Amino acid sequence: MWTRPRRFIVFLITMEVLSVGGFAAAFAHSPQPTGSDWLEFTILAAGATVHIQLTRRQEERRRNRTKTVLIDLTAVWVFPATLVLPATVAVLLVVVIRIQRWFVARRPAHNFIYSSLAHGLAAALANLCYMAMGPRDWTTLTAAESLREFGLILATALVYEGVQVLYVGGILALGSPSPTVRTVLGSKADNLLEAITTGLGAVTAVLVVTMPPAVAIMAVVTVVFNRLAELDQLQDAVVTDPKTGLLNMRGWTESAERALNRVRRSGSTLAVLMVDLDHFKQINDTFGHPAGDDALAAVANALSSVTRPADLVGRFGGEEFLLLLPNADAAAAELAAERVRTTIAALRIPTTDKRGAQVTISGRTASIGIAVFPRHADDLDGLLQAADTAVYDAKEAGRNRISFAPVPH
Ligand code: GH3
Ligand code: MG
Ligand code: MG
Repeated sequence: MWTRPRRFIVFLITMEVLSVGGFAAAFAHSPQPTGSDWLEFTILAAGATVHIQLTRRQEERRRNRTKTVLIDLTAVWVFPATLVLPATVAVLLVVVIRIQRWFVARRPAHNFIYSSLAHGLAAALANLCYMAMGPRDWTTLTAAESLREFGLILATALVYEGVQVLYVGGILALGSPSPTVRTVLGSKADNLLEAITTGLGAVTAVLVVTMPPAVAIMAVVTVVFNRLAELDQLQDAVVTDPKTGLLNMRGWTESAERALNRVRRSGSTLAVLMVDLDHFKQINDTFGHPAGDDALAAVANALSSVTRPADLVGRFGGEEFLLLLPNADAAAAELAAERVRTTIAALRIPTTDKRGAQVTISGRTASIGIAVFPRHADDLDGLLQAADTAVYDAKEAGRNRISFAPVPH
């Protein structure tokens, strides 16, 4: 922890101190737990335990694959506790869950303690707000009253999520050198997952109050749901090149076919750029393969940053990359290719040599072949072929240059 940036440490400690105040406020208003509170606690703790223990291995895999925010699916158990239990007992449930999680998580202790506090405080403050809004007894609700209760649950969910976003998002923003909305707040899919998890938690709350044995169904649902969450990641992995994070050939081709169809329908043009790094083998031979990999990652980053969001950036294989620029004609493609060429030539890539010493690789160049639809070919295979031919022309002409495909007769 002490090796992290100072603002990270200050934020972490400040938030932990603030959380003590939050817990104190929630616990001061928390009523003495009754026998039925303890029964409901036992049911939720049992459900959470089944969920956590039956998804241990899978959760470990999911965590290792997650680069940014890991959505913790145990809100299915914690959120109902914030609605139906006193704050003290709800926080006790968080403790029971986090102790079990500790054995799966394998993270630095300060991270783990911090996110445990965030979970616990979210539960405590959500409970405090919910109680302040004067909830009714759910077993005797009229239709109109149930609508009001539903509104209260939604408001409570916002507090519950809000506290976690503030705590976890804040620390992610401060801990990363270049935070983005995505790394701090998570992707759209992450947020959907989080919302569904909290929604399932609201259902669990209703069940635990009105038909406790039916909570067993939720235990099954959460185990299956955990698998679905992994499926989403796997789907991403299928189209991603792990070394560079770019689209792999499968992902690039699928998206490129769709882009080509759109362009065909609208009667527009499109360009394919094949980028082959010059004398790449020398990097491996001189500095070693890990340095070569760093160079590939740096080039991939550069390609993503000089292209537009609608462009498709993929790794064709080895040290060859593919760009698809929708609606680009020959002139636009030439401009883009020149920009890519000069950006790569200007890259300075910090890495380590074969002995582990720090070195900076610079002055690397690339040869770029350009094929434009419909001028050079009218399907994707033809465009790839044409761009590849153009790369070889660029190599023969001396490398570090761009070249158009020959126009077919
Ligand atoms: P040219 O200018 O003619 O393109 O020369 P080159 O050395 O770039 O081309 P060549 O096709 O001879 O060699 C490509 C090299 O790229 C060989 C291979 O070891 C290296 N390479 C391919 N994939 C990877 C990878 O994932 N990591 C690393 N480090 N090297 C790779
Ligand atoms: Mg090559
Ligand atoms: Mg090459």
